[in-house]
Amino acid sequence: MVKHETTLTFYGGVNEIGGNKILLHDRDTKVFFDFGMSFSMKKKYYSPPFLSPKSEKSLQEFGILPKIDGAYKFDDKPAEIDAVFLSHSHLDHSAYLSFVNRDIPVYCGETTVLILRTLGEMRRADLEFDVEDVRFRSFRTGKKVKVGSIEVEPIHVDHSVPGAYGFVIHTSSGAVVYTGDFRVHGAKPEMSRNFVDRAKEAEPVAVVTEATNMTGASVSSEAEVESKVNGIVAEAEGIVLAEFAYADVDRLNSFFRTAKKNNRCLAVSLKQAYLLNSLRQDKGLQVPDLNDQSIRVFRKSKKRYDKWESQILEHYPDKVVDVFEVSKQQCKMILALSFYDLEELVNICPEAGSCYVLSASEPFNEEMEIDAEKLTNWLDHYGLPQYHVHVSGHIMPLQLKAVLKEINGNQVFPIHTENAALFAGFMRDLKSRTVLVDKGKEYKV
Ligand SMILES: [Zn+2]
Ligand SMILES: [Zn+2]
Repeated sequence: MVKHETTLTFYGGVNEIGGNKILLHDRDTKVFFDFGMSFSMKKKYYSPPFLSPKSEKSLQEFGILPKIDGAYKFDDKPAEIDAVFLSHSHLDHSAYLSFVNRDIPVYCGETTVLILRTLGEMRRADLEFDVEDVRFRSFRTGKKVKVGSIEVEPIHVDHSVPGAYGFVIHTSSGAVVYTGDFRVHGAKPEMSRNFVDRAKEAEPVAVVTEATNMTGASVSSEAEVESKVNGIVAEAEGIVLAEFAYADVDRLNSFFRTAKKNNRCLAVSLKQAYLLNSLRQDKGLQVPDLNDQSIRVFRKSKKRYDKWESQILEHYPDKVVDVFEVSKQQCKMILALSFYDLEELVNICPEAGSCYVLSASEPFNEEMEIDAEKLTNWLDHYGLPQYHVHVSGHIMPLQLKAVLKEINGNQVFPIHTENAALFAGFMRDLKSRTVLVDKGKEYKV
């Protein structure tokens, strides 16, 4: 039997967490899996907002945007890529769609289309995030999509944003599995289980896996996060301020249920409200109804509101609370407050017995350290203790090893990690051979 050559080339996600751009080439078919922004590459050269890339040319100059023929909309060359598949909506997997030739279809979950479109409406026109005219084609779990000589089978996985998928890709050389970002300790572990079962059945020749958490791993679950948050809220006497990723719907649900249980309201930001409003269209998702009596929408103090903000303010007038209303009902509120909203505390004046819950990752780079110091100063000023209650969106090392052992692919390509060599060491007794990836190099599968 003639084996047809199938190759993988990694243009991002190599020795970095995120920025995934994986080209699969099979016979005449070329398909990208994810097309994300590399935050770590960008950070090397830029410091927004004052030092920001002005054009694609700048991004290509530093290799932040790879040079790929027939992929982009700005070089007037005909499209040579047959499709882009997105695993999920996180920007490190999706943002550089902005540059993709609009003739190339982009396949992703329905939830991902909703989130990216909603994000497009909320953000001002931006070089690095523009989904206008993108030819989205949505899929549901288990529905195979044929593109040229390959067939792509998306299977839902659990991650810290809804609408995340892994893929089993049927190629001329056998099945290639791509995990995207996933975990087995989240709110819906059965989804990741489905994916692993399907991946195993396919007897893959190659597995491309995320390996984010090779250091600093922890043992917890979304259920544990909810129970800990509940413990804090039950004892707090004043306001509970909470920071969490605005598109992490599972976390938002955890805070929402906690608010209800403790006879409080969860006041979400306008951004969260706008996203929840859009996600209501997705019948497969469980999201709080903005009309629920335990939900409030927090209106930041500012002079002018964007169009999308005004839409929410006009649609849900009875739900909107400002700093003064929040200040009057502190013991009745959990307020979602991001770092950039800290200024609101000046008018909220947190009462004694209030506290702050950081429900996001701890700072992992210099810029975040500097911000964390500022946060500490704010909390110190108002006498607010800081709790850290969080669980990662990514699978932990022992669980990853068990999953990879089960899937049992011939080769494993660890990406989306700064610790690929550590991964190889940890996985050295698996039957699968770990391949340490160089950026831009072509690998046969
Ligand atoms: Zn990621
Ligand atoms: Zn992600």
